[in-house]
Amino acid sequence: MLPPSPPHRLEIEHRVRHALYRRLERPLPRRAAAPNPLLVNISARHCHLTPRAVETLFGTGATLTPMKWLYQKDQYAALETVTLIGPRSRVISNLRILGPCRELNQVELAHTDSIALGFDVPVRQSGNIAGTPGCMLMGPAGFLRLDQGVIRAAPHVHMHPDDATFFGVEAGKFMRLRVGGDLGVTFERLLVRVHADFKLEVHIDTDEGNACGLGPGTPVELIP
Ligand SMILES: [Zn+2]
Repeated sequence: MLPPSPPHRLEIEHRVRHALYRRLERPLPRRAAAPNPLLVNISARHCHLTPRAVETLFGTGATLTPMKWLYQKDQYAALETVTLIGPRSRVISNLRILGPCRELNQVELAHTDSIALGFDVPVRQSGNIAGTPGCMLMGPAGFLRLDQGVIRAAPHVHMHPDDATFFGVEAGKFMRLRVGGDLGVTFERLLVRVHADFKLEVHIDTDEGNACGLGPGTPVELIP
């Protein structure tokens, strides 16, 4: 069993900053006053599978093995990967599976991947897969044909209801993400996703991360 991950560096910094300002009895600057620190993470291409799909690909009774915890509660990168076969028999191998299993099968690719595979992949919110292209997945125990479910995930922010209140935004609406650094890029349509289990985290894909030059020290800001 994978041990629980320690708090993220930004979470610790945020708590320390809070405590310091309180001790100094100074008013908190807006960033420190936010209920939670902002993480911006790049999601590499991956897929989500149903329990049944995992059995089709990895054998009867097979389940996913957590390899690395992600920032969102209980979410993990699995040890297991699959091979994706696109419409022109072009292939992406070692496509990571993210767990736990979900109620639908979904593959999330970057635009560059879709070009390499010969796909036309629409930008969609996770779970909204009606009318999207399908693909074949291959695992060690079998093939799985998906009639739909290949998307380019819309850039989005996960947040707790407290964050939504702080920023004055609602689930399903859009806000902006300003990324500083050498390039300086603002994402104008960052989809807001709100849930009591969510921690404040932006997900952009590898193309988007490369385009804005996101690195560990790059300043980032959410703008309602
Ligand atoms: Zn996400």
